[in-house]
Amino acid sequence: DVRVRFAPSPTGDLHLGGARTALFNYLFARHHGGRLLLRIEDTDRERSRREYEERILKDLRWLGLDFDEGPHRQSDRRELYAGAARRLKEGGLAYEAEDEAGRRALYFRPPQRSGRFRDELRGEVRFGKIRDFVILKSDGMPAYNFAAVVDDVHMEITHVIRGEEHLPNTGRQVFLYRALGAPEPRFLHLGLILGPDGRKLSKRHGARSVRELREEGYLPEAVLNYLALLGWTHPAGREEFAGLAELVAEWDPSRLGASPARFDPERLLHFNARHLRRLPARQLARLMQPFLETPLPPGREEVAVEAVREEMRLLSDAPRLLGRLLGPVDPGEVAGRLPEGSAGALAAACRLLEGRWPEGLEEAREFLSALRRWAKEHGMGAREVLHPLRVALTGEDRGPRLEYIIVLLGPEEARRRMERARE
Ligand code: GLU
Repeated sequence: DVRVRFAPSPTGDLHLGGARTALFNYLFARHHGGRLLLRIEDTDRERSRREYEERILKDLRWLGLDFDEGPHRQSDRRELYAGAARRLKEGGLAYEAEDEAGRRALYFRPPQRSGRFRDELRGEVRFGKIRDFVILKSDGMPAYNFAAVVDDVHMEITHVIRGEEHLPNTGRQVFLYRALGAPEPRFLHLGLILGPDGRKLSKRHGARSVRELREEGYLPEAVLNYLALLGWTHPAGREEFAGLAELVAEWDPSRLGASPARFDPERLLHFNARHLRRLPARQLARLMQPFLETPLPPGREEVAVEAVREEMRLLSDAPRLLGRLLGPVDPGEVAGRLPEGSAGALAAACRLLEGRWPEGLEEAREFLSALRRWAKEHGMGAREVLHPLRVALTGEDRGPRLEYIIVLLGPEEARRRMERARE
C-alpha cells in the first residue's frame, strides 16, 4: 500500500516549491488509494517556529490538501531517534566526536564514500565524496538526514517525493537505511522550479508564498492548477482542471518529468482569471467580500459579480472594477464620448423606462430588445442606441453588458445619469 508524506520545516511560510511537493504527494496518494502523512520537521531549534507551523497548516487547508495522518512533529519524537542512534553506536556504525562548537555530537560513518540509488524519474543516480556526518546534534536533536530516515522507516513510507534539491541528501540517506536494516523507499525527485530567466526561482521573479497569493486574491483552484503543470503533463495535453477532484481523476504519475519547470507569473494570473470565470456567482460574491471596502449592493450581489467578473484577474480587482461602475461618472467624459445625434436615442430609452423600471436581468434584457426594435423602426442600427446609453450610464465606451449595468445601478441612479447626459 502506498504511503507518502509531506515534510515541511516550519522555518518560513509555504512557498510555491513546497506547495507543489505537497500537491504531488497528495495526487500520488489519492491516485493509488494510498495514505498521505504530514510531518513537521522542526529539529532546527534556532529556525523553527510554532507560528510558521500554524501558517503552513493554514495554507495547506486553504489549498484543500488534506492529510490522512498527522501532523507528526519531530520534536515530539526524540526518543525514537535516540533509540535508533544508540543501535547504530552499539553496532559500531556511529561514534561520538567534537563538533564545531567544541561540544559532543554523534557521527555516522558511511561504509563507503560513494554509491548509487535509483530515482523513479531519472534512473540511476551516482553520488560520491560522502564524509562522516552528524546524526545527533550536540543539543540532542537529530540532524535532518537522520530524523527523516528514521521517520520514513517508522512511518512505513513507500515513496519519497520531494524536490531535486534533496538529491545530495538521498545519497547519505540510502546508507542510513542500510545501516538501520530497513528497506529503502522509492525516490521521486521533482525537477527544479526556475524563474523565467532560467535561474533559481526567487522573489525577484515574482514568486510569492501561498499566503501572499491568497492575500492578493488568487483562488486555490488556480494555484493548484498552475502548480500541477510544473513538472507534469496531462496525457492529452489538457491544461485546465476545475479543482483537486478533477486533478485526481486525471492524474497519471507516468507523466511526471525530471526536467526543470519555469515559473511564469503571467500564466498564473491567466489561470486565475479563467478560474474566476467558472465559479458560481454566489460563491464568487462571497469570496470577493473580504476585498471590498463597501459591501456589494444588497439584493444585487450576483449581478454585481457578473458585471465585473469578465475583467477580473484577481479577487482584489473587484473594488476597482465595481468602483468604476458604481462610483460617480465624470460629466465631461460623458459629453466628450456621446456621439452626435444621441439625444433621440436617449429620449427613447427614457420613454421606454417611464412605465416600469426593469427589476431583474430578464426585464432589463426585454427593455434592451424594445430599444433595439425602436432603433429599427427609426432606421437606426442597434449600436446607435445602445452606445449612447452605455456612455450615459458609465461615461465609458466599453464595459460590462448593459443589462448588468442597468440592474446594478438601479432606477434612481440610472435615471439621474440619463437625465444628466441629456442636458
Ligand atoms: N524538511 C525538508 C524540507 O522542507 C523535507 C525534505 C524531505 O521531504 O525529506 O525540505
